[in-house]
Amino acid sequence: MKLPKTRELKEAMAAVIKGPYTAKFPEVPHRPHPNFRGQPEFDDEKCVGCLACEEVCPVGAIAHKDITDGKEGPKRIMIHYTDVCIFCGQCEAACIADHEGIKRSKDWELSFFDRKEEALEAIDKELQLCEICGSPIACKGHLRWISEKIGELAYSTPTLYLPRLRSLGIIDENIVGALKDKGRSDRVKILCARCRRETTLTTS
Ligand code: SF4
Ligand code: SF4
Repeated sequence: MKLPKTRELKEAMAAVIKGPYTAKFPEVPHRPHPNFRGQPEFDDEKCVGCLACEEVCPVGAIAHKDITDGKEGPKRIMIHYTDVCIFCGQCEAACIADHEGIKRSKDWELSFFDRKEEALEAIDKELQLCEICGSPIACKGHLRWISEKIGELAYSTPTLYLPRLRSLGIIDENIVGALKDKGRSDRVKILCARCRRETTLTTS
């Protein structure tokens, strides 16, 4: 019979006195170290849907889907795939919303019954479409964010000042309809770069 080594005997004695080394997970939740860098989570209130986090993510754990013909209106779905994420924190570092649109948490749990359905987190943001061609321009919150950042310079283009004035309730759609000339009134709309160029260069 093979006798146990002294080290094994010591460990067995210590385990009898102090309890086992292994944790009773999942009955007893594991509490990570205070400095533990866990998976990031979106903050629906703070995120403006700018896609900077998607750009910098080294493993493609962040993606988006633009829905332009949904019943609830145009929206951008921001998706974080938790099973792909390596918890590096680059998304938080690049987040334009004061690093708060997506933030690292202490969450580390990565076991799922249905990986395809459960290993992701998603939030919806309102999407602004071009008022002529209908192509997505940016999220409404992102346009407001840019407009606030650049201050009075936002009044150089209706694409930036209209969302702001509409959100403040200062103007509504009627101001556009009040202009009789079709070509000129098109300029006072929220437009993508191509339609802005066409209406500016081709209407008199
Ligand atoms: S923590 Fe790193 S890997 Fe995970 S989503 Fe953010 S940038 Fe991507
Ligand atoms: S606001 Fe932050 S979290 Fe939201 S899309 Fe931009 S970078 Fe990502």
